[in-house]
Amino acid sequence: MKDRFGRQIDYLRISVIDHCNLRCVYCMPLRGLSFIPSPELLTAAEIERVAEAAVAVGFRKFRLTGGEPTLRPDIVEIVARIAALEGVEDVAMTTNAVLLPRLAQPLAAAGLGRINIHVDTFNPERLKKIMRFGTLEEIERGIAAAEEAGLRPIKINCVVTRDYNDGDVVDVARRALERDWHTRFIELMPLGGGEAAHLSLSQFVPSRETRERIEAALGPLVPVPSANPADESRNYRFEGGPGIVGFISPVSEPYCGTCNRMRLTADGRFHLCLLNDDELDVKKVLRSGGGRAEVAAVLARAVGLKPTGHRLEEGISTEERSMFQIGG
Ligand code: SAM
Ligand code: SF4
Repeated sequence: MKDRFGRQIDYLRISVIDHCNLRCVYCMPLRGLSFIPSPELLTAAEIERVAEAAVAVGFRKFRLTGGEPTLRPDIVEIVARIAALEGVEDVAMTTNAVLLPRLAQPLAAAGLGRINIHVDTFNPERLKKIMRFGTLEEIERGIAAAEEAGLRPIKINCVVTRDYNDGDVVDVARRALERDWHTRFIELMPLGGGEAAHLSLSQFVPSRETRERIEAALGPLVPVPSANPADESRNYRFEGGPGIVGFISPVSEPYCGTCNRMRLTADGRFHLCLLNDDELDVKKVLRSGGGRAEVAAVLARAVGLKPTGHRLEEGISTEERSMFQIGG
């Protein structure tokens, strides 16, 4: 399915829940949160119906996210339902890993192929400051469980935040020298207009600075050409290192021109661009007896309405939805 700018849209990121067991400073405030009431969350069967319609119009890649997707009691069932659809090539998940010791094995058995694990620092005190709930020990146990379950290579998402973890980027990148991990450094994005958005603006660190810091300490990074033109990460290797160091720079080097994504929120709306509030309600169609053709028609409209790119440079971002409500 192509949008009006000729971009091939074949990747659906599905947020399955807006709750989280952590409270990262740039994502979720400690107070004043309100969550989607349970009856408004799409059920596993409804998510499957959307995925089925998406496959019918050419979507091939699916990622489950949140909030924290592993908090859904039926997360293994959701993975199994999507992975079983004919035509699905890739089912992945983005998670903070805290619950993986219990879930990594069943998720892999259900058909999960890949996993991105969010950890901003391997320093236990600073992790408490930036991710606030949960411990490094829990996350490290989750990473080990993912590796054991065969969810490899492990991709680490590290959101670089000035004064919180910008001094730890060398330590995180070093893991790509020592093992086959992909360590990916993400620029902060301001979503939702609240305190997390303000912090994302004031503590922003450009990828160029992160990269310079890493190269000064660990040596030159050699570019790795990407096989996938829609890969949002600019990838590098250290000479002789088994892993990858990636930089995701939506603010300083936007990649909207190669965007291949559509997003589905946990309350059943297609969210057209991460950094924009425009949405189309598909739950209404699902809950009023709409079949595959009707769901696919809403998806086609959503693809047709995708904006050309974000407008962060004009100071425009989401006001309604925060990151934990969309899923990154
Ligand atoms: N809870 C899971 C996790 O943290 O991986 C999945 C949902 S979380 C919203 C998805 C990703 O968004 C995380 O990996 C985190 O790196 C990223 N993220 C959250 N807030 C962000 C922000 N303000 N700017 C950039 N990335 C952000
Ligand atoms: Fe939770 Fe992920 Fe947001 Fe952190 S980034 S608060 S782990 S949803």
